[in-house]
Amino acid sequence: MTNLEKRQVMDLREKGYGYIRISNELGISVNTIKSFCRRSLVSKTDDKHYCRCCGKEVEQTKGRKEKKFCSDSCRMKWWNRNLDKVDRRTYQSKSCPNCGSEFTVYGTFSKKKYCSHSCYIKFRFGGDSHAK
Ligand SMILES: [Zn+2]
Ligand SMILES: [Zn+2]
Repeated sequence: MTNLEKRQVMDLREKGYGYIRISNELGISVNTIKSFCRRSLVSKTDDKHYCRCCGKEVEQTKGRKEKKFCSDSCRMKWWNRNLDKVDRRTYQSKSCPNCGSEFTVYGTFSKKKYCSHSCYIKFRFGGDSHAK
């Protein structure tokens, strides 16, 4: 492929053309276009992703899960900083205001007050006499 052809392929990709359409348009074989596009990391149509820790641009692998961090060390730093928000292992023990039984809520910011939804209903709406 000539440089001009490569440019044209990239232009058409940006316009959203499929491989076959580009192939017809430029008279280049579909396989050539495919392998060129796969090798070429330059794709301006892709959304840019930035590291949540340092803000550096993170290169994404197509078809893979979104990468949120530029490196493992950035991931660790971020998780350590946000541990209280993300750590599901932290839990608190509470006692249910309705039935008095002890139960465990996960996450530091959980607002759960009752052991179960039915206890919540009974406590808020006054048990059987009111609940219908
Ligand atoms: Zn980073
Ligand atoms: Zn309860």
